[in-house]
Amino acid sequence: MAENKDFKDEIRKLIELQEFDTEIFDLTLQMEEIPEKMREMDESLEAKKSGIASAEEGLKQTQVAKNEKETEMQAKEENIQKHEAELYLIKNNKEYTALQSEIDSIKADVSLVEEEIINLLDEIEKSKAELEKEKKIFDEEKQTEEKEKSEMKVQEKEFSLRLEELKAKRVGSTNAIDPEILRQYERIRENRGRIALTVVNGNFCGECNMQLRPQIINEAQLKANIVFCENCGRILYDQD
Ligand SMILES: [Zn+2]
Repeated sequence: MAENKDFKDEIRKLIELQEFDTEIFDLTLQMEEIPEKMREMDESLEAKKSGIASAEEGLKQTQVAKNEKETEMQAKEENIQKHEAELYLIKNNKEYTALQSEIDSIKADVSLVEEEIINLLDEIEKSKAELEKEKKIFDEEKQTEEKEKSEMKVQEKEFSLRLEELKAKRVGSTNAIDPEILRQYERIRENRGRIALTVVNGNFCGECNMQLRPQIINEAQLKANIVFCENCGRILYDQD
């Protein structure tokens, strides 16, 4: 009877230890995810930033193209003025007609260049508006990210404090457990990760959900000995 009572106590201590370990496991996982999440946020922001930079570069090139077209148009207009002045000096009819037709041809070119400039101006206006919108979105996202990151850092700090607390409690808990039982518990935890100890849930293992033999359930109810799930190998306990 005394042995039975002692073992009940060991199970109670194991349940407590498993509670600490579950929380430690989950917190550790959550903490490991934080830097990864931050890195992903930075990368996504960086990609948007380079998207804006390349849009700015595109805008700059369009502006350069527009300036070149304006220079080209100016040169053509000067050429027209020059030729128009020359017209007055020409006495020969044939030469006059030839020069007039050249002037007309340059004027036609000017119209084309003018149209190109208008299109480029349109493009510049659209690009500027688009860029403005993108920059606004970027600024908003950056602000949101900074806020989220600072919240994450606070959370990280809280997690880390809680972890320290749990680890200290865990030491106290393991010191109180029978070393042989503890050794078995630790071995299962090494293999199975989060859960080494689980409840008998009806006729099933509370963790792997496999049906348990009546004898196993019986032994778990007796609480005289350590009982394992025959499928997942975890320690079973009966919840009274
Ligand atoms: Zn199991």
